[in-house]
This record gives sequence, C-alpha cells and structure tokens, in this order.
Amino acid sequence: MVISLRGLKRLDCKPLIEKVEAATTRWAGMNLSMAGRVELIRSVITPMRNLKKATYWSVVPRATHSIIWKSIVALREILKTNCRFRIGDGETIKLFLDPWCDGKFLSKEFSFRSLRALATDKSTALSKFLLQGQWQFVDIPLQIQNYIQQFKIYRGEDTILWQHNVFTYKVAWEACRLSKPEVFWLSLIWTSGRPRWAVLGVLILQNSVLTASNVQRRGISLASRCCLCYNHKESVDHLFVECEYAW
Ligand SMILES: [Zn+2]
Repeated sequence: MVISLRGLKRLDCKPLIEKVEAATTRWAGMNLSMAGRVELIRSVITPMRNLKKATYWSVVPRATHSIIWKSIVALREILKTNCRFRIGDGETIKLFLDPWCDGKFLSKEFSFRSLRALATDKSTALSKFLLQGQWQFVDIPLQIQNYIQQFKIYRGEDTILWQHNVFTYKVAWEACRLSKPEVFWLSLIWTSGRPRWAVLGVLILQNSVLTASNVQRRGISLASRCCLCYNHKESVDHLFVECEYAW
C-alpha cells in the first residue's frame, strides 16, 4: 500500500502498479492450463480444418464437435442476416456453399437440377464465372444468368461487409445480444459510485439480501429476529427502512 503525507504522484504508485501488473499477468496465464489451451485450440481449430468440402456457412454440426465450435456455428443465422458478400475476384466465395446472394444460398433460389449447368463440384469458386470484372456464362439457363448478374462486381479481393458498412463491435453486439427491457435500478448500478453500494442497492430492491426471513423462504429453518432491535423479524424492509436503528 502506498502511503504518503503529500498528494500521491504517478511515480509513487509505480511500484504498486508494477506489482499489480505482474500479479494479473500471472493470473491470466494461469487461467488455462497447458492442457486446457491445447484442448481449446484443438476444439476450435480441428473442425475448421475439416471444412474441406464445406464452408463455415454450410458445415453441418456433428455431435462430436466441441461446444465452442457449436456455439460459433450457432451464430450463423445472425451473421447471415447481417453480413453481405462483396464480390471482388471471386476466389474465396464458393458458388454453392456461401450465402453470397444477399445472405441466401444460390440453391435457395434454384433447384439443384438446374444449377448443375453451372458446376457439378460443390466447392466451385465464383471466379470461374468472372472475366475482367464481368460475369461470364457459357450454356447457362437465362433465368440463372439474369439472377446472378444483378450482383455487382467490385475491384480487388472478395470481402464481407456488416450490414453494407464497416464492421463495428457495437453494432454487431447489438445484433447478437438478447436484449431485455430496461430495469428501474439500472442507474443505481452505473451512477452510485461505489460498486459495493450499487450491488447492495440492487439486492435490496430485488429483495435478495440474505436476511433471516429470506433464508427461511428457501426452506432453511432458523430464527428470524432483527439483530439490531431484537423486536421484529429480520426482513429487508425492516432491516433497511423500518428498524429504529436503520438510519
Ligand atoms: Zn430492528
């Protein structure tokens, strides 16, 4: 602890900061054991490596996949709704396996039978149908040609945009999170200053403080008596408001 008769300067706190930094670095490293780190990498990377004949968008989750990978795959619907493929050289976009048609797969628009005129290999890239920045088709049904040609070709490499704009964590988080109605004690959490007071305030408002009465409600048998006045049951209302010693 840094103690000084005068106001503390940054230099005075330096040893303390270094000590805290050293401790937290060790702590972060200790969060996962070596085996845990290997398992984390294995569980996420291995399924990705096995996407030879599929893409992130088309892979079918298996029971053997890790829960982390399943969670990543579960986000596909949200991403499909919000992500848009910007076709460049077409090298990285798969004709059948990526939802490059405004978030939809090409197979959703046409039958597999008609799409066989385009390609028989599922992993065919869009680049096969691009020539000098233009769509190029040979012996393809006109209906499919007209549909595909509505998608503009841009210069450079393929990119994925978030809602036609640059990706930001804030917008993505708002799209992914489960939002619930704002609670009346929200400002108490963010403006009360001291975290300990804020947490206690919320517990009081939710009647979740472990008073004797609340412990009784959980089926535990014990005497409920105010520890300050010894005249009433120890409830939240009494302890913090009604008791003569509360203020
Ligand atoms: Zn009392």
